Amino acid sequence: MTHDNNKLSVLCLFAHPDDEAFGSGGTIAELVQNGHRVTMVCATNGDVGEISDPTLATPENLWQVRQGELCSAMDVIGVADVRFLNYRDSGMPGTPDNENPASLFQSDPAKVEAQVKDLIDELRPDLLFTHDPTGGYGHPDHVTVHERVTATVESMDGDRPHLYYVCFPQKNFRTLWQDMTDNGITPPFAKEMLDEIGSPDDYVTTVRDLGDYVKIKKESLRCHQTQLDPNGPFGQMAPEWINNWMSTEYFYLKQPDNGPAQEDILASLF
Ligand SMILES: [Zn+2]
Repeated sequence: MTHDNNKLSVLCLFAHPDDEAFGSGGTIAELVQNGHRVTMVCATNGDVGEISDPTLATPENLWQVRQGELCSAMDVIGVADVRFLNYRDSGMPGTPDNENPASLFQSDPAKVEAQVKDLIDELRPDLLFTHDPTGGYGHPDHVTVHERVTATVESMDGDRPHLYYVCFPQKNFRTLWQDMTDNGITPPFAKEMLDEIGSPDDYVTTVRDLGDYVKIKKESLRCHQTQLDPNGPFGQMAPEWINNWMSTEYFYLKQPDNGPAQEDILASLF
């Protein structure tokens, strides 16, 4: 799907407002600054997420506040086309939120896939970014978005977008756990979890250095205020340390099972 002037159409499809920030914010900023057209689509409104400061939101209006946070975050990066599929956040397995019929997890897969297909038909993306099969740490909404987007792309005949999964390598979680522990910070996950979270290290196809974009990426991330606890483990990390973590992004290029192999255009774009 080649467009005029070698400018690409880019579709980002994630589960919650803020899912774009850490794993792909630098790449999105780089694409925008190079003139490519980016659309951000968020499947749920993150209704059951944390509220870092009760003056920012209530459980009742968190969904609206988080929509605003994502719009602000995209404004920083320069993405004007921000859309919401307005599913309810599915929470974690075993919680009532996960049983809610309005949740993404409980929604008819065919309906969600039809929405994804409509977006692809309208925007004709060259690049499509979404969650990897692990969802980073297994959140049902991340995994559901991954499955619906992948099924939709695999059902397409002819030209398909280059489908990239945003990865969080297991080795990074291990290093993070160790570094936090060494610095007296309680990690946000137990040591026993380390084998179960993150993308397998050999799964990543594309590693990108975003050092030049860390500043704008951090500024964008800061818009997700309800999700940032200054007293939490990440809030206690030194700025240099955070910069280091945020300067590399990891992707997996999904080769269609029933289509031709695709060039890793993200690796050779800039
Ligand atoms: Zn999420």
